[in-house]
Amino acid sequence: MRVIVISLILIMLLIACTAADSGKSSTVYFTSDISAEGIMKVFEQVGADVEGKVGIKVHFGEEGNQNFIDPELLRALVEKLEASFIETNVLYRGKRRITETHIQLAKEHGFGYAPIDILDSEGEKEIAVSGKHFKKVTVGSHLDNYDNLVIVSHFKGHGLAGFGGAIKNVAMGMAAIPGKMAMHASSVPDYSPASCISCGACLNECPVNAITLNPLVIDLDKCIGCGKCIGTCPTYTMRVPWGGTDKNVFNERLVEYAKGISDNYKMVYINLLVNISKDCDCSGRAAAPFMEDIGILASTDIVAIEKACLDLINEAHDHETTEVRKLNGGKDQIEYAQKLGMGNLNYKFIDLDKEK
Ligand code: SF4
Ligand code: SF4
Repeated sequence: MRVIVISLILIMLLIACTAADSGKSSTVYFTSDISAEGIMKVFEQVGADVEGKVGIKVHFGEEGNQNFIDPELLRALVEKLEASFIETNVLYRGKRRITETHIQLAKEHGFGYAPIDILDSEGEKEIAVSGKHFKKVTVGSHLDNYDNLVIVSHFKGHGLAGFGGAIKNVAMGMAAIPGKMAMHASSVPDYSPASCISCGACLNECPVNAITLNPLVIDLDKCIGCGKCIGTCPTYTMRVPWGGTDKNVFNERLVEYAKGISDNYKMVYINLLVNISKDCDCSGRAAAPFMEDIGILASTDIVAIEKACLDLINEAHDHETTEVRKLNGGKDQIEYAQKLGMGNLNYKFIDLDKEK
């Protein structure tokens, strides 16, 4: 009986806290000045405590992509903070899968003026999180080398999530490959034995001997979802398990990952509303932007900044268009993040262009 009473009190307290939270507000700073000076202007509002060893989390852009953030916009910030660009290797095949070619591509895309640190190049670490999908998140081990992180995100559409902004940049962008696998519905690769040429490459990569050939079989009891076989298979027999992922579940997984990481590392957020297309920067050739650039936002609140970006897009563009409807489909990210206590849906919007 006592346990039931205590549980009821805790539930009531939780409801009260949630209600109180919904009344809180955070501050989001904005400028329409899309330049290195604009970045510095918004950063100065949120970055007073950013010191020590600083990592700037960016997306270097997939090979062939034309919409990623222009690295020159970040040069002054990088130089001021003496920061490194940080990223993680991706799940799918391509240059960004392997550390050496990932760094090479980053340099080709203009990010070579600062140190480039692939966070999972030397392994990964686990962090506890209390979510309904995850009890731990797996991130690149180099994260522990940083005192502060500046999360610089290109806010645009994303095929599955609706939109990709700071939440996705933290979650998918800082997760090591097993974490990326876990967020994408399954911890086991998709595979089609018919296309296997028995080259044995996956066998050499698999750390737990989960694969046998002729016929190709993955032992589900052994597979740890590291994804190594996907990156090494020359015939695309081993594939990322994209299919079958429910959008809302995917977004909840993203949010839980972002929570696990942001609860443990100090972060401020800068979102750029530029080159706003329906596709993410992971696309080899992204769709052309469907609307005018809007500006740059900064906040210490990941929920508020994402909400502000979505609101600005809805104000600036017809929200009945396919593209904006798609971006609005990602609202569940911010609503779930607010529920998990990651920030506020209410925000005070300060337009720095009007504060001269
Ligand atoms: S995902 Fe990793 S553990 Fe699973 S079969 Fe592939 S290489 Fe082996
Ligand atoms: S790497 Fe691909 S093609 Fe080669 S044995 Fe493994 S599944 Fe078959």
